[in-house]
Amino acid sequence: MDLLNFSDIFKTANNENTVKIIKDMLKSDKIPGAFIFEGEYGDRDLFVNILAKTLVCHDIKYKKIHGEACGICSACIKSDKNIHPDIIIPESDGDGALSFHIDKVRDIINNLYLAPNESDRKVYIIKNMQNMTPQGQNALLKSLEEPPPFAVFLITVTNSDLILETVKSRAVKFTVDSEESSIKKSSQLIYGDLISDILSENPDKLSLYQKLISKSLEKAEKSEVLNFYSELENALRDILIAKIFMPYENSTIKDASFLYFTDKNNFEEIKKLANLYSTKKIFNLSKKIHKYKADLDYNINIRLNLISFLSSLYN
Ligand SMILES: [Zn+2]
Repeated sequence: MDLLNFSDIFKTANNENTVKIIKDMLKSDKIPGAFIFEGEYGDRDLFVNILAKTLVCHDIKYKKIHGEACGICSACIKSDKNIHPDIIIPESDGDGALSFHIDKVRDIINNLYLAPNESDRKVYIIKNMQNMTPQGQNALLKSLEEPPPFAVFLITVTNSDLILETVKSRAVKFTVDSEESSIKKSSQLIYGDLISDILSENPDKLSLYQKLISKSLEKAEKSEVLNFYSELENALRDILIAKIFMPYENSTIKDASFLYFTDKNNFEEIKKLANLYSTKKIFNLSKKIHKYKADLDYNINIRLNLISFLSSLYN
């Protein structure tokens, strides 16, 4: 069972500031009728779940002092098990664009004024509002503006520019930094550097990458790793072509327009690598990449695939 609280949210200056503001609201019991949490899936949703749990927690005294859910009352226990009847998560029809239809919104409106079952509050979590049809969003406007005193809407959205301005103006908006997207960003960086370090054959760096990958790429996506292998293949292709043309040093090669992978200004770099790599070595490495790439289709553990590929480079 997850006993989550606000301290579990990914720590950035922005997120900590948001936690502080929301805790102050909870301490003073001044809760707006509608919140928008904007950001990538992940900490944004964690934030919403923790806030919902806090809103329905029975221990009013604890909330006034700490701005957090007590974590031990019957409401908290139900929230942690995702079975609290006053935390309502309307389902949409799938998760694509325009998949949240007006009939689902009407269901919300029809039940909105029914008193909560067990708590003082009723919390509606509207996920990915960017998928709600404009008709649906319009239908919800009045409820967002004047919800019954016990109701609170917690809306998540990837980008608030994707929802109606009139919806935005009726809610308090926070942007949440997600750990997932920051790992994604850093992993893209890693992949770029990784390619140059593989090519320049820097074993110290490679073992460092292995450590980094085992630590930070727990959620490495297959598409990212496939992309990494393809980029590496493109780089090798550039090196091979450079090897073929280098003896001629003609104008065609100088403009380096054939280069897929490298920055066109990095042609000197490619030439250096072409001197370092024999044709046989290029083919062997290409074969290896091909094998690991194909293995990705059978290998469930993507991270392990990448780590063993890196280890194979030493041999
Ligand atoms: Zn509680």
